[in-house]
Amino acid sequence: MKTVFSIGRIFGISISFHWTFLLLILWIALVDFMAGIRPEEIVWTFIFLISILLSILAHEAGHALMAYYFGIRATGVILLPAGGVASIPSLPKKPGQEILITLAGPAVNLAIAAILLLFVHPYSAYWFDPENIGAVNGGNFIFQLQVINLSLGLFNLVPAFPMDGGRILRIILAFNMNIVKATRIASILSLIIGSLLILLGIVIVQVLPVLIGLFILFASRAEEYYLQLKTIAHGVRFKDALMHDYDSVDANTTVMHVSAMLINNHSKFFIVMENGNAVGTIHRIRIIESIAEMKYDVKIRALMKPNLEFIDGNEKVENYIEKLASKEERLYPVMDHNHFAGVVNFQHIIEYLLLHAASSREYGRIKSLAGLG
Ligand SMILES: [Zn+2]
Repeated sequence: MKTVFSIGRIFGISISFHWTFLLLILWIALVDFMAGIRPEEIVWTFIFLISILLSILAHEAGHALMAYYFGIRATGVILLPAGGVASIPSLPKKPGQEILITLAGPAVNLAIAAILLLFVHPYSAYWFDPENIGAVNGGNFIFQLQVINLSLGLFNLVPAFPMDGGRILRIILAFNMNIVKATRIASILSLIIGSLLILLGIVIVQVLPVLIGLFILFASRAEEYYLQLKTIAHGVRFKDALMHDYDSVDANTTVMHVSAMLINNHSKFFIVMENGNAVGTIHRIRIIESIAEMKYDVKIRALMKPNLEFIDGNEKVENYIEKLASKEERLYPVMDHNHFAGVVNFQHIIEYLLLHAASSREYGRIKSLAGLG
């Protein structure tokens, strides 16, 4: 399932959003609707949504700029309802630097909240005026934006995955123990906090804590999984981990010709070759579909997915974990010194890491996260 959608690029950093970000928009629309929105408030709600988006981007810019200060360039930002995730390749080896990069995001939101505070007078009166709890309007816009930034800053400091606080907790735990164990403990704490939030929501009959709790429960396992994989993948390059033994078909052969091969072979993806170069990939179902439609003479070239995404053999595996995981079975051709060297997919990388990189202590936990029993 596609879960992340691209918006565009800023300074070469790709900006995309996770589908759950739409839930936030839905939530605000719902709150407005329940409050009985007036037409002029629709415009304010729209401005408010843009302001939230900018506040989250400012949060991510905080992470990215602090990383840049330590000489690390962020490659992408994914927006989530409760903040975002900045893809920062190869996190620093110094834990102090990692903590500063992680703290920089919430710090930006808290700074914005502090500055906006100057424009809200008297502050406490706003909190107690029921008018300000509902729809956004010209009178309470700055107050609402202040509350949003305060919430973003504080919420991201909660010590649970996938929030910044969870990552900071993991780094602090790792001062005294192996990083895999630290990640595991941070993940267990995330499950406890998520469950408590759901319970709280039920007790006080509020939807928001339940939604946040569910979000933490779902996201924390994935966060632990990726962090564990990144830890054991540290230092591994694609040229070391690629498959030399893969199934390929020629771009110019016909479906009829290839169909015999499918019976003896259970690969889901094939790499499409032409003159010794990888030119695309094809899923076996595309070939089967073509046979079912009795299009026997169609050439593989016409059915394949032209593969524009080559991975350089010198790239580090740890920087591609999320990308590979988003399409577990898809094959990516790997180039070494401009030559096609082999292929990788997520499943293969996991097996490679389990065989070569994981210590026995790490092995069991990662195997279970990967669903390999
Ligand atoms: Zn953050």
